[in-house]
Amino acid sequence: MPELPEVETIKNELVPYLVGHQISGVTLYWAGMVRQPSVEEFCSRLVGQGILGLKRRGKYLIFSLTGREALIMHLKMSGSLLVKPASAQPEKYVRAILHLDNGVAVHFRDPRKFGVMWLVDDASSVTSKLGPEPLESGFTPQVLAERLDNRSAPIKALLCDQSVIAGIGNMYADETLFAAKIHPLRLGKSLSREEIERLHRAIRRILRAAIDDKGASVEDYFRPNGGLGTAHFQFQVAHRLSGESCPVHGTPIERIVVRNRGTYFCPKCQPPVV
Ligand SMILES: [Zn+2]
Repeated sequence: MPELPEVETIKNELVPYLVGHQISGVTLYWAGMVRQPSVEEFCSRLVGQGILGLKRRGKYLIFSLTGREALIMHLKMSGSLLVKPASAQPEKYVRAILHLDNGVAVHFRDPRKFGVMWLVDDASSVTSKLGPEPLESGFTPQVLAERLDNRSAPIKALLCDQSVIAGIGNMYADETLFAAKIHPLRLGKSLSREEIERLHRAIRRILRAAIDDKGASVEDYFRPNGGLGTAHFQFQVAHRLSGESCPVHGTPIERIVVRNRGTYFCPKCQPPVV
């Protein structure tokens, strides 16, 4: 699923097409993706509104609108937003289209149909439970230490918990734990100060590098122009097959399941819980 670097890339690449333009129409092929308000109200209220800005919070995209409300999208498992000319016919799996007054149409493609949209007065009604943004300057090792303090869940699960830190999911959790040499089953509260500092550095370095590479094109992630990202070429353990070798010293990578998430790690680089 798209995580922070993928959603950030989508946001960056949509801005030039969207901001300053007006929504001239909405086509919905799958009404189930509108969470709030009713489908009829969602469509009628959107039409005619200008897009003032687009930002990302965690894995959410937030469009601020001239009518003092916010359109929020979450791509969930398999969503992507594709920029097309107004005349483009929807391809398979396109669940919604936003038509703009500049001749651009944004196609919400979502094979698995988990994507969600909201139209709300206040974006924080949807995003208020999110933890800190890991790339903002306020996210210090001390903040990470406080988020993990007294937590008796495995660190892998805590990294994927959006209320602990916003934006990290399965892929980047595996990559950051490998880079920080921390076993995914270590409990949050068991991490030393030095380990927390290593993890903090790894989170920021890996997320930034993945944004530079325009996200990881595994599964259904496409950039708005239909192109792919290349971040997955840097992956050391995530999405590797178990039995493939650790790039550091050739030990076979192992796969375990942590709270229902397939988790890849190197048993030598990431020593087990003792
Ligand atoms: Zn290794």
